[in-house]
Amino acid sequence: MIDGACHCGALSWRTPHLPEHLARCTCSVCRRYGALWGEVDPAATELSKSNQAREYLTGDKMLAFVFCGRCGNLSHWRSLPGHGDRMKLNFRLADPERIRDLHVRTFDGADTWRYLD
Ligand SMILES: [Zn+2]
Repeated sequence: MIDGACHCGALSWRTPHLPEHLARCTCSVCRRYGALWGEVDPAATELSKSNQAREYLTGDKMLAFVFCGRCGNLSHWRSLPGHGDRMKLNFRLADPERIRDLHVRTFDGADTWRYLD
């Protein structure tokens, strides 16, 4: 199990496995957030039920970014209905020791939609 929580503790997640790698994304949203994404199985991932959860829907309404209304930390994104069943957690919310050895890749979400390595 690996856990993550926002700074104030209102939002948290728990997932059974570390992802194979983490990714920085260059797209217009992610580069601003500075998130470190790891893809997980949505069905196996537990999210806290908090009234502090806020969502930012991208312009094309394909996915929702979920962040804390109190401390502002970004928790995860999930695809919206009709756009698959995917979720990436922001591993910046995890214990840095747990993710220290994971390979970090750069995903070119701004342009080619490919990993740059
Ligand atoms: Zn918070």
